Amino acid sequence: MFEVEEINQNSLQDNPVLSQLSALNHEELLFCNDKATGLKAIIAVHNTVLGPALGGTRMWKYNNEMEAITDVLRLSRGMTYKSAISGLNLGGGKAVIIGDSRKDKSEAMFRRFGRFVNDLGGKYITAEDVGINTRDIEYIAMETDFVSGKPAHLGGGGDPSPVTAYGVYMGMKAAAKKAYGTDSLTGKTVLVQGCGNVGRYLIDYIAKENAVIKISDIHEDSIKMVTDKHSGVTVVPVNEVYNTEMDIYAPCALGATINDETLKVLKCQIVAGAANNQLADEAKHGKALIEKGMLYAPDFLINAGGIINCYSEVIGYNEKMAMEQTENIYNTTLDIFTKSELENIPTYLAANKMAEARIDAIAKVKRSF
Ligand code: NAD
Repeated sequence: MFEVEEINQNSLQDNPVLSQLSALNHEELLFCNDKATGLKAIIAVHNTVLGPALGGTRMWKYNNEMEAITDVLRLSRGMTYKSAISGLNLGGGKAVIIGDSRKDKSEAMFRRFGRFVNDLGGKYITAEDVGINTRDIEYIAMETDFVSGKPAHLGGGGDPSPVTAYGVYMGMKAAAKKAYGTDSLTGKTVLVQGCGNVGRYLIDYIAKENAVIKISDIHEDSIKMVTDKHSGVTVVPVNEVYNTEMDIYAPCALGATINDETLKVLKCQIVAGAANNQLADEAKHGKALIEKGMLYAPDFLINAGGIINCYSEVIGYNEKMAMEQTENIYNTTLDIFTKSELENIPTYLAANKMAEARIDAIAKVKRSF
């Protein structure tokens, strides 16, 4: 049966690489190094039972290599679950480039990275993630066909972030329906942490419903893009996010923000955001959220809009279908809340089980060919 250990950020980082691969049941990890372009990247293929491993590339200033390895392993595992629960014929993979996306990028670096992706022969298909934009994707596409999130002039569906934001919005509304009995966000205070590609589009959606919006970001220019457009938002300093008053916490920056420290002060009714791997320790913090009466909309379920859009691109881009499938995140999220209640398990576990059941079922189908 397909099963992996639950994620625990701290214990993962203490383990050597192969033990980490084994714990999370990964197929492959590729280290890419190119001195000429300064490229240092890691590609993780988690599982390819359902299809090629699709997942974006993240560019980030990791403090050390173990941090980058842990991140790519966690993220690629999440992609397996995300595609499985979304009914896509895709496995899970992810890549990280170690570097500062504001300073270290070059055409040559991304083209070299594209060659590494190409060498995997289609087992891994890349796309955008934090720190990567469609221009970078264009460079990657010069060297490989195994790339999604391409701009329209290259036959792609463009930046998947707006679609991701739509799915997060659907998941947030489903959570509101469960928590408040109505899916209206009018008058609800939503704190969006991270005003990047996804966060900004999410803010556009919730602003239309007259939610009370609070935002936070480490970069002034990201904040300005929001405040220039939406005059009523309140800016919260980065270190005050968790003790700010809010109804809904929407993590849209990096993962593991639901942890021992933040749970000491965080007070909200709903956690629903775009960031991957929001629970630092799934078992521990998934349970803690229930004990604190907070409803968690599983991240990999509600942020699947982007992968749905990328999958559409792989099979022949159809924007309408991608949006309709993304809208269905609302129903699946409600199904997960019901499953969680019926089986008396945390919502993250209900979602994991649903994804694992599909992988198991399809693995059996494939064996019979
Ligand atoms: P992005 O890089 O465009 O935006 C991230 C934003 O978060 C940036 O503005 C950054 O300055 C800010 N940030 C970083 N650290 C922060 C902190 N400590 N506090 C507040 N702000 C901080 O990335 P994105 O594409 O918007 O993705 C956001 C999250 O959603 C990521 O975790 C990503 O993995 C996840 N996600 C994205 C997509 C997608 O389609 N882009 C799909 C699924 C999941």
